[in-house]
Amino acid sequence: MSSSTPVTPAAPVIPVMIPWLGEEEARAAAEAVRSGWVAQGPRVAAFERAFAEAVGVPHAIAVSSCTTALHLAMIGAGVGPGDEVVVPSLSFIATANAVTYVGGTPVFADVDPATGNLTPETVAPLLTERTRAVIAVDQGGVPVDLDAIAALVEPRGVTVVQDAACAAGSTYRGRPAGAGAAIAAYSFHPRKLLTTGEGGMVTCRDAGLAARLRRLREHGMSVSAADRHAGAGGAGVVETYDEIGYNHRMTDVQAAIGLVQLGKLPAMVARRRELAARYRDLLGPELAAGLVADPAHGTGNFQSLWLLLPDGAPDRAEVLTRLAAAGVSARRGIMAAHLEAPYKGTARVPLPATETITARTLILPLYHSLTHEQQDHVVAALKAALRP
Ligand SMILES: *Cc1c(COP(=O)(O)O)cnc(C)c1O
Repeated sequence: MSSSTPVTPAAPVIPVMIPWLGEEEARAAAEAVRSGWVAQGPRVAAFERAFAEAVGVPHAIAVSSCTTALHLAMIGAGVGPGDEVVVPSLSFIATANAVTYVGGTPVFADVDPATGNLTPETVAPLLTERTRAVIAVDQGGVPVDLDAIAALVEPRGVTVVQDAACAAGSTYRGRPAGAGAAIAAYSFHPRKLLTTGEGGMVTCRDAGLAARLRRLREHGMSVSAADRHAGAGGAGVVETYDEIGYNHRMTDVQAAIGLVQLGKLPAMVARRRELAARYRDLLGPELAAGLVADPAHGTGNFQSLWLLLPDGAPDRAEVLTRLAAAGVSARRGIMAAHLEAPYKGTARVPLPATETITARTLILPLYHSLTHEQQDHVVAALKAALRP
């Protein structure tokens, strides 16, 4: 994931993330290959059913990434040229880009400093006549207060799309994150918990919307290629193309891996939560005050465990350099889209919490196979790096 030139580390490097993949995934992928059916087919359909059941939603549509999931979600929400969509700047840039893909304008809202997520208070000042949707992100797997935002905007006819890219395995008001959204989008990139290499999922409640998103995923075809090959709808069915679609499909090889990963998700979340709690203890109350935590309305999967550097700490770049020298690969905090070239100067309101989090946080190593010994080393290296 890093594009820097490889150097010989001073100590064994503890990365920020390692996906939890094993023999079971390898066997499942090999079986898909041996079956001769590698494009979207029966394994994608099985993965969709299993994912929908795990989240507790009626419809799940597998796609090639969360970025393509968000693209379809924007079309599903009816966003087009002239429309505005309120998004957090504090997010991976794909959140804002999905709005731009369909000709809409991303309007950047600030976030709650504790959760890194949109709130009704940060969204409200940005609503206009042109607002068509809000993309509520579960940043770093911290569940956003979806109901509060929906209560504010849905009476105005504004759709809330949940960018749950990071949030498979998080919960919101006792249900899996995304379960309550009109449309939610998930990522299966290896930087998230559940991975298929690349991959994503759209979930929704409305059957008509689900059928349309299925067609849009596959060139706008009225009958999917997999169904035609399987003979569904009768021999000799000729598909039609009623609107412009895309090739946003997932492959059966990816879905085979995803089915195994989905079964491991509860264990992944439990392990990450245990390690996050242990970080909290090891860091001590003063430092841990800057560590992202569960909000009152849900539980996170700690996809990204970020730490706000305390006042008086050295510059973040210096902290990261010192950590790297100690063999610890931490990361800068979540990016802010309004500071990047495509969106520079477009913020309509000040975004103080966004700018603080993006400039003053770092993301600590957290992955399933991280040992307590390695974790002790990270914390010792961090405490040393924070000395003035
Ligand atoms: C990772 C991420 C995405 C993009 O996911 P891909 O599957 O890599 O396209 C979108 N939104 C958020 C909040 C993310 O963290």
